Order: sequence, then structure tokens, then C-alpha cells
Amino acid sequence: MTGRLIHTTLVVSIILMLTWSACNQEPKDPGLAFVDRGREVPGFNADSAYYFIERQIAFGPRNPGSEGHRRTMEYLSGSLKRFAGPQAVYVQPFTHTGYTGEIYQMGNIIASFRPELGDRIMLLAHWDTRPRAEKDPDPALRNRPIPGADDGGSGVGVLLEMARIFRDHPPPLGVDILLFDGEDYGREGDLEYYFLGSRYWSNNPPVSGYRPRFGILLDMVGARDALFPREGFSMQYAPRLVDEIWEIARQMGYDNLFIDRKGSSIADDHWIINRKTGIPTINIIHHLPPRPLQTDAQFPDYWHTHADDMDVIGKETLQAVGDVLLELIYNRIR
Ligand SMILES: [Zn+2]
Repeated sequence: MTGRLIHTTLVVSIILMLTWSACNQEPKDPGLAFVDRGREVPGFNADSAYYFIERQIAFGPRNPGSEGHRRTMEYLSGSLKRFAGPQAVYVQPFTHTGYTGEIYQMGNIIASFRPELGDRIMLLAHWDTRPRAEKDPDPALRNRPIPGADDGGSGVGVLLEMARIFRDHPPPLGVDILLFDGEDYGREGDLEYYFLGSRYWSNNPPVSGYRPRFGILLDMVGARDALFPREGFSMQYAPRLVDEIWEIARQMGYDNLFIDRKGSSIADDHWIINRKTGIPTINIIHHLPPRPLQTDAQFPDYWHTHADDMDVIGKETLQAVGDVLLELIYNRIR
């Protein structure tokens, strides 16, 4: 009896140990496994990213229906065709009926690098800008569309520079860059009229069965002295990816930007994608770490005002975001 009991206990212990070690070695989601592979990583050029933001700003506001919107769509699809090849860029068209009944021609701009590979990730930003400035201190300006250097322009600028790098240094896995239209169209509180492009894309996937490992959204990633706390929905849907990116930033000395604080939960394109497609997607977004009992996310003073122009952009921030993402993509994905 005793011997048998010891034997059973031993077997159970061994099974428990094996299960325990298996849990430790094999993550639940193998798409979110990371390791330092010791590979060389190409350099990110912040001057180039800055230039790509300037180019967008020069078209004027890029709100749906505007001349700037039309010209920017041409500029972005043309630039991405130069970097990814003309066959690897797709503009996904859709329309949206606006608040006053006008029908807007809109488009998500998608570029695929190494399209032959099944193993993929996606990088996201919104390329439209807000048609109004309700936070502007001057009431006379609140109905006018904003320049959107940081809100819109910065994420696109960083991704255009990444596209240039992917052309010269093919990434070790497939990368899709998705620039969504109509993220910032909605009036305050009217979530149905925000995220138009990501919602359309999620409901109408251009490639059926598309299943990248994860997505990273960049929204307001260019301001001098930006703060990127660990955004709430990102922690909910892809905590391993957040951990890895913030750890890379710490190792690179960028923990002054990628601060180790829990952020607010911010409704943005990644919120739509997580809920509608299940692709684990995070958001790197400049906002202030919430104080206790604070309910709304707190954004910088220039947010949704006419002050969101090139003056707020700092190359050090663009450099940090670019360095961290390139280290992740070229060297950390298992
Ligand atoms: Zn915005």
C-alpha cells in the first residue's frame, strides 16, 4: 500500500512537473513568442520619418472630402508602391455618408512586404485627419479641420520610413502596412462614426483567412516629450507583446518615453480589430498615465486643436519608436 502510494505520488509529481515545464517553455499563443536572436538590425532614419510627416502636412488637412485627402491618398499609395513594388500595394475603396448627407470616397492603403510568406505581422496607422478642432482654445477655429502632424501624420511618417527600410532590408517575416482612413471623423462621443476604415477592413477582409501573428498601431507617436504608458486594451488583448516592446525600449534607454505605467483604455483602430477579428493588436499612443479614479483618457494640450502641427514633432521620439520596432521585427520574433 505504502509503496504504491509513493509510486502514484511520484507519477503525479512527474506529470505535474512536466506540465509545469511545458507551460513555461511553450507560450499559450506561439505567435507571441520572443527571443533575442542576435541578428543585425537596420538603422531607422528619424530625419526621413520627419520628412514624410512634412510631406503630408504640406497637402493641408486630410479630412474626408478635402483636396488634401485626395492628394495624400495619391502620395501615400505612390510612395508605398515605390517601396513595396506596384503589385504589392492595394487601396481598399469604400464610401461613407457623412453628417450632412454627403458621400465620401475613402480608402485604406495596404502594402505587403514579402507577400510570399504565410508568417506575417501587421503595422497600422490612420492617415486621415480630424475635420474639426473641438479642443481648440479659439471657438472660431473649432469647425475647421486640423493639420494633424502628430494625430495621423506621425504614425504614417514612421511607417513610410519603415517601408523604405523593408525595401532595402527584406524583413525576416512578412509585414503588412495598413493605413486606415476615417479613424478621426466622428464627433465627440459618437463612436459609430470613428474608426471607419478599420471597421470596413475588419468586416471586408481583402484576403480571406488572413491571420498575422499580431498588429501594432501607431497613433500620436511623434511629439517631443511624448509618454507611452501601457495602453489598457493592448494589455487586455496582447500583454506579451506589450511586455516585449516595453522591455526592448527599456534595454535601449527609451523608458523615459515607454514608461512602465498602466495607461488608459483608449478606443482606437486596435479596439475594433481586436474585437472584430481576434488578431491581437496593441496601440502605442501618447497620453498621460491616468490618475486614480480618472475615467477619461487624458491627451496632450495640442490634441484636436490647430496646434497639432510640425512644431510639436520631435525627431528623438520618432527615433525611439523606429528603433524599438525595428529591433522587434528583425531580431526578437521567434
Ligand atoms: Zn484624433
